[in-house]
Amino acid sequence: MKKLNSDITSVEVLTSDVYRVRLHLPAAGTEAVNFHAGQYLDLFLPDGRKASFSIASAPDQGRDLELHIRRMPDSEMSCAVMDYLQHNKTVELELPKGNCWLDASGLAPESRLVFAAASTGFSQIKSMVEHLLANQVMNHIRIYWGARDARDLYHLALPEQWAREHANVHFVPVVSEPELSPDWIGRTGVLPQAILEDLDHFEDTQIYASGSPAMVYALLDACEAHGMVESQLHSDVFAYAPRPGKG
Ligand SMILES: Cc1cc2nc3c(=O)[nH]c(=O)nc-3n(C[C@H](O)[C@H](O)[C@H](O)COP(=O)(O)OP(=O)(O)OC[C@H]3O[C@@H](n4cnc5c(N)ncnc54)[C@H](O)[C@@H]3O)c2cc1C
Repeated sequence: MKKLNSDITSVEVLTSDVYRVRLHLPAAGTEAVNFHAGQYLDLFLPDGRKASFSIASAPDQGRDLELHIRRMPDSEMSCAVMDYLQHNKTVELELPKGNCWLDASGLAPESRLVFAAASTGFSQIKSMVEHLLANQVMNHIRIYWGARDARDLYHLALPEQWAREHANVHFVPVVSEPELSPDWIGRTGVLPQAILEDLDHFEDTQIYASGSPAMVYALLDACEAHGMVESQLHSDVFAYAPRPGKG
């Protein structure tokens, strides 16, 4: 794990409250950093406060990193982070962090991979899927991306393109409050329900979940009730939020 100063290459608006931030890590040498697909970084503000963000780009893309950051008006920290990134040229980072990652070379060929992302949880999933596609993995890949409002699916064209271009990739966007999005004609409901409607078994299945603890534990409870064992579900949440009722 290393602390370093990175260039801020660009900050773009993806929706009304989600930003794509591109960073360029310093050249090779003592500051070079390797990370795995699915890991995150800590971003430091000059006053010492820090916030965690998943790395949205795959390690195969080298030193150019991408982050997807939601600016929430009621989160002073997220506003301070976006304000800093929009008005400065460099930022202090610590990376790589997190135990929820995958490596294409270590995959069993028969394993089916299911990715469940809520909101900006798509960032972590994007890194993992782009890594798998860059390494021409042929495993069956199912991606579920859920949000309350269809407008929060801020990068819909990208997973749709993965599914169009790769026969082994299937993409299911899910909107939980369709009354907020009258034009939405896709799946509705919550992520665990959508996943269970589609999967009739969990044999040879590994699930990677990215989002709030509430979403991840709801998914774990639902899948366990249908025969999955806990070790088949992977998430950063397990490291920072204990399972409710299990200490
Ligand atoms: C490991 C990790 C990765 C994160 N990745 C991102 C990201 O890619 N983009 C982003 O906008 N925010 C992400 N967050 C949340 C972000 O760090 C905070 O929202 C931000 O620091 C504002 O801080 P806060 O104190 O107001 O919120 P906090 O009170 O720190 O809120 C953190 C909340 O973020 C939720 N969270 C955890 N993982 C994610 C995630 N991948 N995406 C969204 N929320 C998440 C947690 O459930 C928690 O409720 C991540 C948080 C963690 C712990």
